[in-house]
Amino acid sequence: MNPPTRDIRTTCPRDCYDACGAVVRVAADGQVIHVRGDPDHPVSRGKLCRKCTLAYNGVFLDRDERLTEPLVRIGPKGAGQFRGASWEEALSLVAARLGALLADDPARIVYSHYTGSFALLSYFFPMRLMRRLGATEVAPDTICNDAGHTALSYVYGTSLDGFDPRTAADAHCILVWGANPSASAPHQHEHWLHEAPGAVIVVDPVRTATAAQADLHLQPFPGSDAALAFGLLHVLARDGLTDERFMREHAIGGGELLELAAPCDPAWTHDHTGVPAQAVERAAHLYGAGPSLLWIGQGLQRQPTGGNVVRSVAALPAVTGNLGRPGSGFLYLNGFGNRGIDEDYLSGADSFPDVPAPISHMALASHLADAARSRAFVCWNVNPMGSCPDQRRLRRALEREDLFTVVADLFATDTVDLADVVLPAASWLEFDDLVVPYFHRALSAQVKAAEPLGEALPNSEIFRRLARALGFDDTPLLEPDEAIIARTLAGTGAGLEFSELAARGTVWMPGEAPALQFADGRYPTPSGRVELACEAAAADGHGRLPRPIADARPQRGRLRLLSPASPWSLNTSFGNDERVAARDGELTLSLTAADAGALELSDGQLARVTSPAGSLVVPVQITDALPAGVGLIPKGGWPKLRADGANVNVLTSAQASDMGASTAIHGLEVVVTPVDSRAP
Ligand code: SF4
Repeated sequence: MNPPTRDIRTTCPRDCYDACGAVVRVAADGQVIHVRGDPDHPVSRGKLCRKCTLAYNGVFLDRDERLTEPLVRIGPKGAGQFRGASWEEALSLVAARLGALLADDPARIVYSHYTGSFALLSYFFPMRLMRRLGATEVAPDTICNDAGHTALSYVYGTSLDGFDPRTAADAHCILVWGANPSASAPHQHEHWLHEAPGAVIVVDPVRTATAAQADLHLQPFPGSDAALAFGLLHVLARDGLTDERFMREHAIGGGELLELAAPCDPAWTHDHTGVPAQAVERAAHLYGAGPSLLWIGQGLQRQPTGGNVVRSVAALPAVTGNLGRPGSGFLYLNGFGNRGIDEDYLSGADSFPDVPAPISHMALASHLADAARSRAFVCWNVNPMGSCPDQRRLRRALEREDLFTVVADLFATDTVDLADVVLPAASWLEFDDLVVPYFHRALSAQVKAAEPLGEALPNSEIFRRLARALGFDDTPLLEPDEAIIARTLAGTGAGLEFSELAARGTVWMPGEAPALQFADGRYPTPSGRVELACEAAAADGHGRLPRPIADARPQRGRLRLLSPASPWSLNTSFGNDERVAARDGELTLSLTAADAGALELSDGQLARVTSPAGSLVVPVQITDALPAGVGLIPKGGWPKLRADGANVNVLTSAQASDMGASTAIHGLEVVVTPVDSRAP
């Protein structure tokens, strides 16, 4: 007879649109046997993505890969040499060093966190202590999507109240602009888009798997999306597909915007974007017929003019009246707030409001290089040595002997190697939490399936213990997980205890019927209308209206380098799982045959890719999936596991986009030269 096992339903908390349901099979002795998809989950329908299937059944369960005890540095900074320590010793050391900075200048304690886990407690709770200390936050979204948030806030007053994806059943067209679901939202690629009755248009410089399956793929040169949006606006206006009544009643500046679009006919658009005129016409007609959905991807805005791009693209729903009715609307993200989640309570912003101004990830390397501005660095849920730009400069900064660095993580990442104290974090399989998906309007339970490996602890418990070690007794710093979960659940209005949510796994919010975006016709802008012309943007130096512009093409001999996710990467997560890494394959530079020929490169040959920040030697991969003049090296991977100790971020610069001090990573230009592989 087989020994008894238990199946525990839970939810993947990664930074991912899908928020898949999982089932964890646990043996009688408490060991996890396997992690699989939940067949009853409405989005993932029994499957996790391929990378998670391997990693959750690989390194996440592997004692030899996981950090299982606190560590204290014994070797030179960055050598990754540590000795084991008790929690008491490690936290006493951290408390002594951070406590010493409290009286001096706590703003010189810098903290970084992101979405290594995007479940609410593991994401937010540590912020309470950092805020209590008066430490300086590295604004998390500046590494990802702040330009888009800023732009959409100008136009609609919010970037966090997107369409309900279930309304796709009512849409005649879905326009996916700058997102790659086949890599970053695999279940939306496989199910949601595939089953949508409307035509699918994809705008992406790369012919991704999603683009290849679309009814229409527009392939603009990177940085020309605003020009393409104005080209669509031109055709919409020319062919009577605008909604004058909607603009009159609900928008400001529609007429002015369309005047700007008047010169942007399909021929002009082709000249500025590379998209054939016929394709511009067809896209405008499909979208303009409506009802239509617009999915604004995160990759779209990682450009020097990313804010202007998103303002331009975001005009489409308002100009065509594709708002406030079934099958219409736009989505950037569905934020926690539209399910009643109180972020200020979770993060301690309500209890500890007076904190220093945050800095951008684009400024992290220079900030940490400067002892006058930084004396300690604390991070959790993030691996800046793999994910931040200007990798070499950041490494030099983190090698400062007088910078006291504390890292909480599951694995010995490159950032962990540079720490003074390492705190082993529990995995998502090892504690209860809440997951609030950012695509679907749902609410899910992350349910503890096993005890933490070794002495690992959930982030919340690590920072509770650290607060005690610092001598703090503020109630928010010591609040137990169960109380936070109960209060947060009560705020959602779901009417469920955690045990009930855990049993159901995922529930729709607010209910079974799709929500209607902006159903009341009110927009949370200063005017209460859609601000196509925006005084706040003008006051901030961005102009009242978006502009029909495109970035200059790279000079001869240069390529514009894109570094999107591959289907096997999720930022730097899973970079240490051998099976995932094997499938992700070698880091390569993809480019067209024409560009390769001009650069005297052939398929498989080594090339040196050089930017002002650094250089990388990688094999060339010829592709027809890119426009001429564009190169692609995927992001992800751990630098120390690569032959030359770097990933693509050794090339990327700290250039910020036009809005939100956010990354402009897809604006990078590089020089590519052949490498003689026979040279020593
Ligand atoms: S990373 Fe995304 S696709 Fe993969 S299992 Fe998690 S939620 Fe699903």
